Amino acid sequence: RIQLDNIVKTFDTFRAVHGVSLDIASGELVALLGPSGSGKTTILRMVAGLEFADGGTIHFGDQDATCIPVRDRGVGFVFQHYALFPHMTLAENIAFGMTTARAKKRSRREIDARVEELLGLVRLKGLGGRFPSQISGGQRQRVALARALAVDPKVLLLDEPFGALDAKVRRDLRKWLREIHDQLGITTLFVTHDQEEALDLADRVVILNEGRIVQEASPTDICRSPNSAFVMRFLGDTN
Ligand code: ATP
Repeated sequence: RIQLDNIVKTFDTFRAVHGVSLDIASGELVALLGPSGSGKTTILRMVAGLEFADGGTIHFGDQDATCIPVRDRGVGFVFQHYALFPHMTLAENIAFGMTTARAKKRSRREIDARVEELLGLVRLKGLGGRFPSQISGGQRQRVALARALAVDPKVLLLDEPFGALDAKVRRDLRKWLREIHDQLGITTLFVTHDQEEALDLADRVVILNEGRIVQEASPTDICRSPNSAFVMRFLGDTN
């Protein structure tokens, strides 16, 4: 379970996040949805520990994680532009986090077995020896997810992971991500500006505007009962 309590973030004099509180249940898949500049990425970066909040607290279960740095948080993330290492094979990319000094000690054989398992999970069995330039964009994002999962994170953070891909590939990846999520039951926070993606994928959708939560509800309730003109307009906007 992740709890954000009255999180505030200011850049110089500009307040990007104005007191956001959010409770994410263990195993839940929550989408942060909002227009560009609404503070989605900033919130995700604070949950990741890539940025610290100026006010408020973040708890992971009973642990106060507000000031814990990223490497100790037990989070895995996939960003739109968080590219794979081009000079490493897919298998080496996936294994990367397992071979750092801080990682749990594993033998070469254990690492290879885990990489094979992850390649199977993201449906890329047999492609471990390829390089990122030799696979498609959608496949690359699947490898990025395998890399994020390799260190058994408690929480998965995804920032527009399918943003650069075309509509058909996005739809396929959405379905696939939902299946993987249901299989692993990992608590997931997903950032997108695409309403269709959020409504299709998430257990709960949190709509942001100008650094504040405007509405949070299940996809069905958001569609049936948008609580403001902003939400209605935003959901109707199909760009
Ligand atoms: P997008 O979908 O465009 O990424 P977003 O909803 O994720 O938007 P954020 O990236 O969180 O929004 O940005 C929220 C606001 O904070 C924006 O106005 C942005 O310009 C500002 N901001 C974010 N990071 C910084 C920074 N490091 N320094 C200054 N301002 C920043």
